[in-house]
Amino acid sequence: MNQTIEELSSFLSHPQKIIITMHRDPDADALGSSLGWASYLIKKGHDVTVISPTEYTANLKWMSGIADVLVYEKSGDQGKCKRKIEQATLICCLDFSALSRLKDLGKVVQDAAAPKLMIDHHLEPEHFAKWMIWDTHAAATAQLVYSLVKEMEGGLSADQLFDIPTAENLYAGIMTDTGSFRHGNVTPEVHLAVADLMLTGFDSSRVHRMIYDNAPLSRLQFLGYVLSQKLVVLPEYRTAYMVLTEAELLKFHSSTGETEGIVNYGLQVENVVMSAMFIERKGEVKISFRSVGTFSVRDLASTHFSGGGHKNASGGRSEQSVNETVAYFLSVLPAYQQELLNVD
Ligand code: 5GP
Ligand code: MN
Repeated sequence: MNQTIEELSSFLSHPQKIIITMHRDPDADALGSSLGWASYLIKKGHDVTVISPTEYTANLKWMSGIADVLVYEKSGDQGKCKRKIEQATLICCLDFSALSRLKDLGKVVQDAAAPKLMIDHHLEPEHFAKWMIWDTHAAATAQLVYSLVKEMEGGLSADQLFDIPTAENLYAGIMTDTGSFRHGNVTPEVHLAVADLMLTGFDSSRVHRMIYDNAPLSRLQFLGYVLSQKLVVLPEYRTAYMVLTEAELLKFHSSTGETEGIVNYGLQVENVVMSAMFIERKGEVKISFRSVGTFSVRDLASTHFSGGGHKNASGGRSEQSVNETVAYFLSVLPAYQQELLNVD
């Protein structure tokens, strides 16, 4: 057992008041890993509160434990979140490694007296945590939670450690962060962890359906519109991009969840190795980047769009207008042309 895990085990051998939080606009890995970690800690007798900085999407509402998640940006929850954070003896930060990813909650967590535990797999972490379970080779934070619990419990098999709802939450995180086991981050460890989790007996196909085949008709209609009208391909840069204005989102009554994942479609175009989506929402432009192979969209996002993430999946934002943001993106592409052409 390494020193961090030893210290953590000893700290957790007494009942603690624990906050678990995750990045804004949480995805299935952020929520699945947080809820999985929460159920383990609750079983160990700790007092646990899970806080999301912002609302989560409707296709995650099936997750076990989600009904108790407090949402910091909701005025009805904010006071309780602040009180709980003030009283906390440990704050667990899952699936992010920069406090700016917590939106307004970042300052509250930063100022809190409790020691912090980071469990994450993003590159270039900030050093705000006393304990870091941090591994960029892990496909998902849920995989890190799985391994951490295994190690703390001396290698018992998953069916002895996790109940079915917990295994489902962890599986959902691993499944989505690997793009259903097809991205470059899939390793033997991923399949071994999933095989072990499946020994609990949950229905993995159902988890897939709940997340991916559970959209309102409007999302599919919106997707049809985006793919037929908004997808631009630049063969000379092996790049695809889509731009969505606030007016278009309003027209389709599109909520945050309905644009999620659409950026991936750009990569389905032959020869394309980078896909970008620009979304104008609430006075800022949110950008999603995806790539394949050696091309790092994280570098592009962090150099030009105040963002970051993973080599092949990253995001950023801009306070310029959507047209200016896209023009800027197009202006930096020539500098990346050779690298884009070199991808296998
Ligand atoms: P998405 O495109 O799904 O919003 O984000 C893809 C990846 O990039 C996720 O791993 C997410 O954590 C990261 N990411 C998205 N937006 C930002 C951002 O503004 N800053 C940083 N550092 N990472 C981001
Ligand atoms: Mn993740």
